[in-house]
Amino acid sequence: MDSTEFRKRGVEMVEYICNYLETLGERRVTPSVEPGYLRHLLPSEAPQEPEDWDQIMVDVEDKIMPGVTHWQHPRFHAYFPAGNSFPSILGDMLGDGIGCIGFSWAASPACTELETIVLDWLGKAIGLPDHFLALKEGSTGGGVIQTSASECVLVTMLAARAQALKRLKAQHPFVEEGHLLSKLMAYCSKEAHSCVEKAAMICFVKLRILEPDENASLRGQTICEAMEEDELQGLVPFFVSTTLGTTGSCAFDNLPEIGKELKKFPCVWLHVDAAYAGNSFICPELKPLLKGIEYADSFNTNPNKWLLTNFDCSTLWVRDRIRLTSALVVDPLYLKHGYSDAAIDYRHWGVPLSRRFRSLKLWFVLRSYGISGLQHYIRHHIKLAKRFEELVLKDKRFEICNQVKLGLVCFRLKGSDKLNEKLLSAINESGKLHMVPASVNERYIIRFCAVAQNATGEDIDYAWDTIVDFANELLEKEQH
Ligand code: PLP
Repeated sequence: MDSTEFRKRGVEMVEYICNYLETLGERRVTPSVEPGYLRHLLPSEAPQEPEDWDQIMVDVEDKIMPGVTHWQHPRFHAYFPAGNSFPSILGDMLGDGIGCIGFSWAASPACTELETIVLDWLGKAIGLPDHFLALKEGSTGGGVIQTSASECVLVTMLAARAQALKRLKAQHPFVEEGHLLSKLMAYCSKEAHSCVEKAAMICFVKLRILEPDENASLRGQTICEAMEEDELQGLVPFFVSTTLGTTGSCAFDNLPEIGKELKKFPCVWLHVDAAYAGNSFICPELKPLLKGIEYADSFNTNPNKWLLTNFDCSTLWVRDRIRLTSALVVDPLYLKHGYSDAAIDYRHWGVPLSRRFRSLKLWFVLRSYGISGLQHYIRHHIKLAKRFEELVLKDKRFEICNQVKLGLVCFRLKGSDKLNEKLLSAINESGKLHMVPASVNERYIIRFCAVAQNATGEDIDYAWDTIVDFANELLEKEQH
């Protein structure tokens, strides 16, 4: 494809995307296909000769789209939002066009510097303390874009592990490193995302999963008692991962309490995972949810969830960048450059070497919406969630199962888990709505999340009417 054809096809693609997004509501939310559906529609080998573009696009509509789950659909209410907006798409497109691989400052100075600046912008807007900002006088911290929240948790755990091992080696110079590693203990709540468990597996450390309170919030005393118990057993607490806005029910661990308790364990790294909820802290009225952040060593949130930014864009800030990078630095000659000492090289802040120009899309989003536009978007979703909560509360056959602080409502039919499983499965099979379940306090609940950028009150009412229709049918069947 030459640039003349790219111009033509680019215009057509923009047209296709606009049509797709504008008419999304007419499609089923979830596809009606079985595993392997695409294998039967596509050849088993790549074409030997070039194919016609128009034919490829016909196949997009006829073969790919029938298997797509439409995350931007106004009646998609599963998981958390998948950030998406035109400025973000265009920012990504420009990044792809530039096509640089900005692993070091020298590999593309603007790629590195824009990331640092934009992360400071967002960190300030969220209300992070100054020590998390890279360009603040005297700060040792800074922000970086990772691919996912899972990676943020992994790299902070790796950094905490390196720091703990260094300390233990200094205390016990003749003890084998493997033995020291076997003593390290990380902590999180049962409500933490499974990525903490995965990070512990990769780091080869023990993880103690603690019981939260009745509001799904991990408390300071629980952590403190667990650590004291473990220390008595000869184990070494080194990392705590807390969550602000849990995946299951958007609950908040008690960060002020946990932070205060951790003062008794000054070598323990405190991480805050706010993958979804963290974005909302750009609204002044929601900043109280960030209370306790002054105790944290690191914090992550995903603009690619709830800040109109396309995947991938997971932002991580650390209090001390040297403690992060010292766990991840490898420095072969071919990657060194003349400014290694003076500039940030983001290859030392994460696992991959190659990095896309991801800050461009976030920069486009922050500039074209402005903080006020993004605040408006967050508040709109919260309003939709509140509207849904009110509808649920009016029907005495249902109950609300979480404190609705942001865009997630957890609810269930009063009755057995089995009954709620049946309800959700019938709704999802219809393709009219899409929601997913979670288990909170050992109970099966249905999660309803405000997701689509331009979802309206009518979309919420439609969703509720649909749920009620299915519930009526199910309850009637159950009576006979
Ligand atoms: N942490 C929390 C609180 C989440 O809700 C999620 C996903 O929903 C994750 C981590 C994992 O996010 P990612 O897919 O970016 O790894």
